[in-house]
Amino acid sequence: MADAKIIDGKAFAEGLRNKVAQEVARLKDAHEHVPGLAVVLIGEDPASQVYVRNKGKQTIDAGMNSFEHKLSDEITNDELLTLIHGLNKDDKVNGILVQLPLPDHIDEARVLAAIDPAKDVDGFHVINVGKLATGDSSAMVPCTPLGCLMMLKDTLGDLTGKTALVLGRSNIVGKPMAQLLLGEHCTVTIAHSRTKDLPDVCRNADILIAAVGRPHMVKGDWIKPGAVVVDVGINRIDAPEKGEGKTRLVGDVDFDAASQVASAITPVPGGVGPMTIACLLRNTLVATCLQNDLDIPEI
Ligand code: NDP
Repeated sequence: MADAKIIDGKAFAEGLRNKVAQEVARLKDAHEHVPGLAVVLIGEDPASQVYVRNKGKQTIDAGMNSFEHKLSDEITNDELLTLIHGLNKDDKVNGILVQLPLPDHIDEARVLAAIDPAKDVDGFHVINVGKLATGDSSAMVPCTPLGCLMMLKDTLGDLTGKTALVLGRSNIVGKPMAQLLLGEHCTVTIAHSRTKDLPDVCRNADILIAAVGRPHMVKGDWIKPGAVVVDVGINRIDAPEKGEGKTRLVGDVDFDAASQVASAITPVPGGVGPMTIACLLRNTLVATCLQNDLDIPEI
């Protein structure tokens, strides 16, 4: 197989954002609800600042209210918990996101556990993890794997009976991705750093999700001919061809080789990345509907 179809995450995300914006407008007209998303950012990490700026802009573009809380990295655990308790009680706030990673002195587990599960639009609270694992449709689902699933269903239609390999077992990508695929009746394998004969394990998969954080680790000959490959990895590598000191982003999959074997593949950048914020907006809309006993739009 040559020249896999490129799954255009940028275009898909734009479509999803437009659908969210339409539903937000409908919610406003019919019920006078304007969904609100609060984002908490601690410290000066430049990458996190860019993410938070993009989230704020896209939230406003979708017609929602955006509340940004930029805090000094001197903040204490108690001060942060007080802020979160306040956001939990604030009726204007339907979704709360605490930008990770947090400074070392902050107790991440305690902070995530303090967020009201109904407002946990990142889907990291143990209540939402449990709901996803038990197939409860009111679960807030982590945004990156949700975006991957949407693109897979758009590409393949019904996923029933497909063999899926999730490479990576983190709480934010690998594990929820595996749960989502199981929910779609795939036969799911989760691989990680201790997996034996990884290339052989990968070669069995109709669907291969790479979420490892290692540039170009998945080679072309690890891929089953005709498989669909979703590359979650975001890795910055040196790019001397672009000039001295320049860098570029690449995924976990050797894209050029893989696209000769796969039937469809997500690029990096422009694949999974743009879907993550679009799914965050979708989750904020869904959270608003659930909190107000309204029907959840089919998006
Ligand atoms: P983590 O570092 O939390 O997890 C990486 C996983 O990969 C672990 O389960 C680890 O195994 C496994 N792994 C590492 N090395 C190997 C190896 N040599 N062979 C097999 N498995 C290996 O990463 P995340 O899940 O947070 O992120 C993964 C990638 O996705 C990163 O590049 C990240 O930047 C990107 N990402 C992209 C997002 C987006 O919006 N597109 C959002 C979130 C993440 P073990 O558990 O055994 O250590």
